[in-house]
Amino acid sequence: MDASELESVLDEGPLFDEELPEDHRSGFVALEGKPNVGKSTLLNAWMGTKLAPVSPKPQTTRDQLLGILTREDAQILFMDTPGIHRPRTKLGDFMVEAAESVLPNADVIVFVVDLAVPPSRGDRETAALLEELSPDVTRILAMNKADRVSGEERERRRAAYEALGDFDHSLCISALLGEGVDELLQIVISALPRGPRYYPEDQLTDRQERFIVAELIREHAMRHLREEVPHALVVVVQEMKERPNGTIYILAHIYVEKESQKGIVIGRGASMLKQIGHDARIDLQRFLDSKVYLDLQVRVRKNWRRNEKALRQFGYTLQRQA
Ligand code: GDP
Ligand code: MG
Repeated sequence: MDASELESVLDEGPLFDEELPEDHRSGFVALEGKPNVGKSTLLNAWMGTKLAPVSPKPQTTRDQLLGILTREDAQILFMDTPGIHRPRTKLGDFMVEAAESVLPNADVIVFVVDLAVPPSRGDRETAALLEELSPDVTRILAMNKADRVSGEERERRRAAYEALGDFDHSLCISALLGEGVDELLQIVISALPRGPRYYPEDQLTDRQERFIVAELIREHAMRHLREEVPHALVVVVQEMKERPNGTIYILAHIYVEKESQKGIVIGRGASMLKQIGHDARIDLQRFLDSKVYLDLQVRVRKNWRRNEKALRQFGYTLQRQA
């Protein structure tokens, strides 16, 4: 969903006017911060289900993902973004645009940083960007990975991060261990404006299932591969259908940029592809709540990351903002 679509959802007004508490709140929450600080882990902790791909390698999240959290007292629309970083390829341009374009639409911004390391230039740049936004936006500093530092060092880091900007709230959390995650959510909700539910309560995301399926497969491929290969791949779900016995058949193509990468993704005796398929299937069965037959095929699309047409085909469309 891009910024203009988000606005059209808001313009259409409430879709569901069931009996809600008088002070029901709703709005958009942007998760910002450098790659790898734990934004997707935090989103998953809040959503209680595996929605956003998580990986120890930076830049796992390539596109915006709207996670819809519906509670009795609030409906929160989370935007998990790829984070802001210096672009090197057209895909990089797209990612930075996606991260920056959500900011003006957000009611609350959760700026996630990694307490295990000192503030870096990337953190300072994001903090500077937040300063430019309307004063109506609530800025929350979430110092994540607090499980990795303690004592005096934690206090020093904390002070260094808090000095980056003018935040309405700041707190230490561990998205991985679930510490401080509920408290942070409570702060987010109290900062949202009063408003109705915009989506049915059972809807978790605005993304097509296919997109999430492709992202889950890509996560496992990235986890198993090394060096330049993880960043050279894209997954496209070609076919997804339920068989009469209830199993969901999924045909997905893994695209890489070079023949040599194709060999690596397949592995000796197809061992790598089998491993990726095995791990991805476990997640897919959980997400789809069904038995899954996963058919993975590896294809080469030369230099797709630098090819705008290929990027469009893979769904990474650049949306220039006015
Ligand atoms: P994103 O790029 O900001 O979305 O980061 P991810 O959510 O993909 O997380 C990047 C890595 O940091 C993964 O290996 C996570 O397991 C790890 N991580 C996330 N949150 C925490 C945390 O609170 N503590 C620790 N120790 N690791 C974390
Ligand atoms: Mg992420």
